[in-house]
Amino acid sequence: MLTVVLPDGSHKQFDQPVSAYDVAASIGAGLAKAAIVAEVDGKQVDLRSPLPSEGEVNLRLLTKKDPEALAVMRHSCAHVMAQAVMRLYESVQLAFGPTTASGFYYDFALPQGLSEADFPRIEAEMQKIIKADEKFERLDMPREEAIGLCQEMGQAFKVEHIETGLADQSSLSFYRQGEFVDLCRGRHIPSTGYIGPAFKLLSVAGAYWKGDSERDQLQRLYATAFFDKKELDAHLQQLEEAKRRDHRVLGKQLELFTISQTVGSGLILWLPKGAIIRQTLEDYIKGELRKRGYDAVYTPNVGRVELYEISGHFPYYSDSQFPPIEFEDGERYLLKPMNCPHHIMIYQSKPRSYRDLPVRLAEFGTVYRFEQSGELSGMTRVRGFTQDDAHIFCTEEQVADEFRACLEMTQTVLSSLGMNDYRVRLGFRDPKSDKYVGSSETWDRAEAALKAVCESMDLPDMSIEPGEAAFYGPKADFVVTDCIGREWQLGTVQLDYNLPSKERFGLEYIGADNHPHQPVMIHRAPLGSMERFVGVLIEHFAGAFPLWLAPEQVRVLTVSEKSEEYGREVQQKLADAGLRVTGDFRGAKLGAKVRDAQVGLIPYMFVVGEKDRDAGAVAVRDRLEGDLGTMPLEGAIAKLQAEIASKTVRQVAARQAAVVADRESQHEY
Ligand SMILES: [Zn+2]
Ligand SMILES: [Zn+2]
Repeated sequence: MLTVVLPDGSHKQFDQPVSAYDVAASIGAGLAKAAIVAEVDGKQVDLRSPLPSEGEVNLRLLTKKDPEALAVMRHSCAHVMAQAVMRLYESVQLAFGPTTASGFYYDFALPQGLSEADFPRIEAEMQKIIKADEKFERLDMPREEAIGLCQEMGQAFKVEHIETGLADQSSLSFYRQGEFVDLCRGRHIPSTGYIGPAFKLLSVAGAYWKGDSERDQLQRLYATAFFDKKELDAHLQQLEEAKRRDHRVLGKQLELFTISQTVGSGLILWLPKGAIIRQTLEDYIKGELRKRGYDAVYTPNVGRVELYEISGHFPYYSDSQFPPIEFEDGERYLLKPMNCPHHIMIYQSKPRSYRDLPVRLAEFGTVYRFEQSGELSGMTRVRGFTQDDAHIFCTEEQVADEFRACLEMTQTVLSSLGMNDYRVRLGFRDPKSDKYVGSSETWDRAEAALKAVCESMDLPDMSIEPGEAAFYGPKADFVVTDCIGREWQLGTVQLDYNLPSKERFGLEYIGADNHPHQPVMIHRAPLGSMERFVGVLIEHFAGAFPLWLAPEQVRVLTVSEKSEEYGREVQQKLADAGLRVTGDFRGAKLGAKVRDAQVGLIPYMFVVGEKDRDAGAVAVRDRLEGDLGTMPLEGAIAKLQAEIASKTVRQVAARQAAVVADRESQHEY
């Protein structure tokens, strides 16, 4: 007899062999219909697979409401997509078809190049398969038989995968729906009808078999599916919105940055307007650092390999570094992958006493990492970037206050950019991994200290994630959600008992007891990297920066040529007041000039005509709110200065309205 324990604690007993589906049916027809997949003692199983005939099991029935069920449906939809592709095209070789965070893909090798023009055909075929409500049937067989089946189906990748990736499996499983059979460990929905109409093919991209560029080239079809049509529509709208905000496109349009293949992939060239944004951010951060007792330092872009051998960055990270520069006498230099070792040398440049601590050394330090070319993307994945870096050397007793101050500074900086939606992720070590340096006692102490500080601060949505630590110590990362719901890992604060240790740099200070002690190090960067941060900001604001960051803050527009002289006078006064200003004195119609400024995402327009000159006034036009009426020039300048000083962020809040207004204005003209 089998006893089934349900999540509410109730028991059910069965004398006959049953599946999770049978249990659901015994509870009610509605539940049997709604159930998609099951969890037995915490392990996911197909709804129709038999439960043990004896003993006791905990059973959870998953329905549309459970996120795990969505992943199972999406993966099943990947099988359906593969089936459709095999029906429509000749000589299709199947590779892998996993789910992703927001959908799924399948990799194929086929002679014909697929494009978006093929999508409607494939989708229509998928629709037929879904309508036919084919059952997903699981077939288990010994490995020899499995290899035979894949050979018979002419699926060479699957044969290779069984022989290599699955070499330790004595038995393998396949899933069949209709004429389609695929090697798969499962799980699947009961039948194709469960998918429903809310699926969509999204894009096609190149890929390689097992991600190896020496191996077969594949075509990757990306798609997504939802249980609810409304959710699919919202997702597609978010993708559209992300496309509209793509920093690579906006960066070019707004002349913020460029990448030149002559200079090299992944190396950002900041154009004048992008440089203004970066400089403004840097000045802001520098001001904060001064207030918070940091000392600015500068260090070179290279260092001897020996330096990084002591720090452990070499050879730990040699895969992701530019290879060393070698000289005939055997000297080797690395482009610096991290600023920390240089700052440590500054700390060590003289004896330190407990009275000197904490020592806080800050630098916008440029570092280099060799990312694979396939992983490079605009400003967010690059090969050279500048961190808003600093290292704090302090006593053990000072750790909590210093760490807290770093977290607070990160919070201040993020909120001044309208990024108030974030969570804090504590990255701890994975005790099973050997990639970390230092003793486990040291790690326990560091993790406990960090956790205590974070808990005392009431940080939003704090989570502890084992395996996310740096190799030298635990850390707190700020994961920011942008205004269209995407997460970005930005600021970081990291605790380090290892680099200062005897095994590494052997840092010391003389304590009140006149004996040498080892300081603790904190690594921190509120923005992370300037490149990545500005890339994310471009998308967050869709290029429409708040006034304090906007490369061009205000544009003077003349009503007619007669007011050009007054226009130039106004422009000069604005420049004298420290505003970033341009003038549009063309003979064109005012409407056209307003439109240009609007498209250029310039926060304010000062419109001047003949009458305004006599009154010493300007007509102020706000990009978001339109005409604000005429006001004295001095008053208008003061209004902008106040908005800059308070670092007001209005664009994010006004996002929806602005998007609609931009679209409408495009239709109008
Ligand atoms: Zn599967
Ligand atoms: Zn560091």
